[in-house]
Amino acid sequence: MSGEFDLIRRFFARPAPEGFLGPGDDCALMPAEAGTELAVSADLLVEGRHFFSDVDPVSLGHKSLAVNLSDLAAMGARPLGCFLSLSLPRADERWLQGFSRGFHALAERHACPLLGGDTVRSNRDTTIGVTVIGQLPAGSALRRDAALAGDDVWISGELGAADVALRLLQVRSAGDEALLAAARGALEWPQPQLALGQALRGLAHAAIDVSDGLLQDLGHILAASGCGAELRYDAMPVADCLLGLDAQLLRQAVLCGGDVYQLCFTASPQARPDIVRAAQQAGAKVSRIGRTVAQPGLTVLDADGGPIVLTGNAGFDHFA
Ligand code: ADP
Ligand code: MG
Repeated sequence: MSGEFDLIRRFFARPAPEGFLGPGDDCALMPAEAGTELAVSADLLVEGRHFFSDVDPVSLGHKSLAVNLSDLAAMGARPLGCFLSLSLPRADERWLQGFSRGFHALAERHACPLLGGDTVRSNRDTTIGVTVIGQLPAGSALRRDAALAGDDVWISGELGAADVALRLLQVRSAGDEALLAAARGALEWPQPQLALGQALRGLAHAAIDVSDGLLQDLGHILAASGCGAELRYDAMPVADCLLGLDAQLLRQAVLCGGDVYQLCFTASPQARPDIVRAAQQAGAKVSRIGRTVAQPGLTVLDADGGPIVLTGNAGFDHFA
């Protein structure tokens, strides 16, 4: 490789769709449609904090974009394009091959072309910054502040596996290989729920994607909307591979585990049949896990109706 521009050209620049201007100029250009608004989100992934140094670069490329697309999904937006800023200690050919392959594959699947970015050399660690831009009909976004008391609370997909995989990878003890093999796909290959998010526009009231744990992220909806919620633990969609796990560990993973990238949303009970139909059409599994209440606070009830008290930390916080 003969430098920065060669690296960009080989691994990241791709022909932009008709009507767009992609990598190669000072700015990218994308067409703006009347009556729509843009949804924009940025996320950083830092080596040693968001990913292990030896993670498969293909899955890292996938996940770097997936966590950002998940934010678009949570607003009900359709992807328009993305930007990639890389800070790399060296131009490692094999890593760049894998990373760009995973990134572009997901970008293509969701029609979210890579339109530009920045590439610099770092002193030590790899840092990956992705920005996604989406669009949606003006005024139709699924915001966090729109839940109403008496709504159903829903979650897509399944809970717990990503957190269990993360813990197993952190300790790397022998004997857990089968569980790790079953759970790590959830951690390393999250699938952003874009079709579901768009299908929920006009149906759901509030939505959020679960990145830091169900209770913490639902807590953001409740705080922004000025209400509380009561959840039923036995209604939680627990990943099949976790069913033999210690009950206490499992609860912690299901309720507080991060890296889920599923949508938690609220909707009127009248909308139940429409939600089930929308999820079916989007190819997504959805589970009704509780309801919002006027009184602030978040409780999780056990199968016998008593409140569950959690002992571990409530969700992920970089500065706690
Ligand atoms: P500038 O000097 O105008 O900031 P750069 O020299 O940093 O531009 O980048 C040259 C072009 O390559 C720009 O169009 C930029 O958007 C694009 N680019 C740089 N890094 C990446 C990347 N990692 N992925 C996609 N496009 C990139
Ligand atoms: Mg630049």
